[in-house]
Amino acid sequence: MLTTVTLIKGDGIGPEITESVKRIFAAAEVPIQWEEENAGQTTLAEVGELIPNSLIESIKRNKVALKGPLTTPVGKGFKSVNVQLRQIFDLYQNVRPCVTTEGVQSKFTDVNLVIFRENTEGLYAGLEYFDERLQIADSISRITWAGSYRIVKASFEYAKKHGCKKVTLVHKANILKNAGMLFLKAGEQISKEFPEIEFDNKIVDNMCMQLVLKPQQFDVIVATNLFGDILSDLCAGLVGGLGLVAGANIGDEVAIFEAVHGTAPDIAGQGKANPTALLRSAVMMLHHMGLKDHARRIDRAIDETLKIREQCTGDLGGNASTQQYTDYVIEKLQN
Ligand code: ATP
Ligand code: MG
Repeated sequence: MLTTVTLIKGDGIGPEITESVKRIFAAAEVPIQWEEENAGQTTLAEVGELIPNSLIESIKRNKVALKGPLTTPVGKGFKSVNVQLRQIFDLYQNVRPCVTTEGVQSKFTDVNLVIFRENTEGLYAGLEYFDERLQIADSISRITWAGSYRIVKASFEYAKKHGCKKVTLVHKANILKNAGMLFLKAGEQISKEFPEIEFDNKIVDNMCMQLVLKPQQFDVIVATNLFGDILSDLCAGLVGGLGLVAGANIGDEVAIFEAVHGTAPDIAGQGKANPTALLRSAVMMLHHMGLKDHARRIDRAIDETLKIREQCTGDLGGNASTQQYTDYVIEKLQN
């Protein structure tokens, strides 16, 4: 029995890296079939919509999607496609594991942490006001108890399931006396339900310094939307860059898996893109679907490939094309 998954190729390097995932999944005989839909720049040009209805229907039906990066045209009053998808399906958890990989050059060798970014509120709630006459701009950061509670709870449940020792909550409650404090209070309350897990909290500026000095001290990190966004890119940098880091947007019904990086327009269409980030996201998707053996097998093939520099793409100092890298991973699957 094949399970159907929605596939969004995306813009920029999206088509190249999704092709790589499709080839590797086919070689690994993963029991899923792709239902191809699209969004962003491509569908805006083709059918005049950034998020076509057929895509929304497809995700509603399948409950699981893999998404390439999408472009939202700047300055034409369009709301970000990524943000809209998260809001439509109430994907309140943005989960981003950052793990060092053997063979990949990075500042640290033993980082293994995961970021839980709140994905629906904070500064992304869309509460923006502009007074043209006075030239005053407001972007309101809305934090709710319910929103804080569910993301912090999800981070603790993850910690428990994966045997993690500690959850660190990141905030700025010393300045954001309302929004920051509410989030911190949710953490303090939920931590009481998980006495076996250590709970710590850090002010975001200190957290940035701690992360670049000694990232090994962290395990699970939970943060509001904007802080989580910034910390994710910082942590991607700690483990070798954007070409490697996977992400999942998870709600109670639907989950959409995507790489942390954007459309990389500077290298699009040149066969240079590193498909690893999307591939690792696709592996997270397999775990989510309970296809653990396939997930582990593909993960091992990626690890083996990345150990040898020449087999890597340019962003990791290698000289393999997207296609050649994909061939290497497929070769390792056979071993
Ligand atoms: P967007 O507006 O879609 O976020 P961006 O210009 O911010 O696009 P990113 O995709 O975030 O670009 O990438 C930032 C830099 O990292 C670019 O130089 C890009 O080439 C590089 N990069 C990002 N993803 C990859 C990848 N998968 N493989 C190789 N290089 C990448
Ligand atoms: Mg970007």
